[in-house]
Amino acid sequence: MEGSEKVENTEKNVKEAKKSSQNVLQSTQIVIKQALEKLGYSDEVYELMKEPLRMMTVRIPIRMDDDSIKIFTGYRAQHNDAVGPTKGGVRFHPDVSETEVKALSIWMSLKAGIMDLPYGGGKGGIVCDPREMSFREIERLSRGYVRAISQIVGPTKDIPAPDVFTNSQIMAWMMDEYSRMKEFDSPGFITGKPLVLGGSHGRESATAKGVTICIREAAKKKGVNLEGARIVIQGFGNAGSFLAKFMHDSGAKVVGISDVYGGLYDPEGLDIDYLLDRRDSFGTVSKLFKDTVTNKELLELDCDILVPAAIENQITEENAHKIKANIVVEAANGPTTMEATKILNDRGVLLVPDVLASAGGVTVSYFEWVQNNQGFYWEEEEVAIKLEKVMVSSFDNVYRVATTRNVDMRLASYMVGVRKMAEASRFRGWI
Ligand code: GLU
Repeated sequence: MEGSEKVENTEKNVKEAKKSSQNVLQSTQIVIKQALEKLGYSDEVYELMKEPLRMMTVRIPIRMDDDSIKIFTGYRAQHNDAVGPTKGGVRFHPDVSETEVKALSIWMSLKAGIMDLPYGGGKGGIVCDPREMSFREIERLSRGYVRAISQIVGPTKDIPAPDVFTNSQIMAWMMDEYSRMKEFDSPGFITGKPLVLGGSHGRESATAKGVTICIREAAKKKGVNLEGARIVIQGFGNAGSFLAKFMHDSGAKVVGISDVYGGLYDPEGLDIDYLLDRRDSFGTVSKLFKDTVTNKELLELDCDILVPAAIENQITEENAHKIKANIVVEAANGPTTMEATKILNDRGVLLVPDVLASAGGVTVSYFEWVQNNQGFYWEEEEVAIKLEKVMVSSFDNVYRVATTRNVDMRLASYMVGVRKMAEASRFRGWI
């Protein structure tokens, strides 16, 4: 690509990303307002909750492998800590922005509320492209980020975790940096760690496990038999790939999957084990095949269950009426716009929203933190049983609110998600 064209393209991408994160924050605020109104809370409560209580921007100088110095921008948002310390992942992505991190921190508060965890929401991000960085550059950036935000995070303040393009190795570097700075071993500072450093069994696959449970519960409500049900999954990263495996192993037919470059479709069902074997650490697999579909086409494929497990704003008013699935379960954060949510609901599609469906990750993160705090570790089965229990009761709770209050599942989730935070803020005398 020529220099000027590249600059133009990057500017266009940055502009689009900004617009999309702006939309995401605004629609979250609208639904929060609706939820608080339905619950009878005053405008002051909305004023408190529409933005994070604390937002930190940091600039991190990193020496690159070629000896040059690059300054990276990072963020940490702490939405509301009335219930307990804030909690949420750190994302490494070129599209990270202040607005996006804010919206994501609000979603974490909602997830914690829905799953009844003793946390508020937090979120972090660094504007970078780890796909173009070396292992050592990523390590230096991870450590630099922790040094930059160290004053506002900690095992009883704000507990980071993995998110888009961050993993257990990055959590290990971050934990090591924090422990060195504080001069004591602090496994409870961060979750999603490797098992040998105090990670929890089942954490890596937890988001997908939670999504699997939501799919099963939604299928029961819709009378869909999962044996042989056709599933399309957009995204083959942490959530998408584990989910494909779980669904495949449980007898469903995964007919479509995709990565950022494109999708694979086979009406007879894809060979998931083969694809898992061939995917790279960023979830790329479609590049190995000639016969691919676009991500846009993938969403409109004939199937029973659709799982957007990639990025924001994928189902919009343009394609919502073309979605064939009867059940849509959001494994990604914010994949469906407000307008599309309405179209899908009007068409009778059962939409299980992100703040419920993708909350398995933070739930097992909570289990990890509890194990770190008590210094006593659980077996895999124990984690699985506990996650199953929390997930099923949260699904039932949201579904009950949706039916009894005659609202859609997203608004019902928000109503469940904000209630505890509003009550805790009130008891503390904040509102
Ligand atoms: N990043 C994940 C999420 O968005 C997990 C957060 C956590 O484990 O704290 O839910």
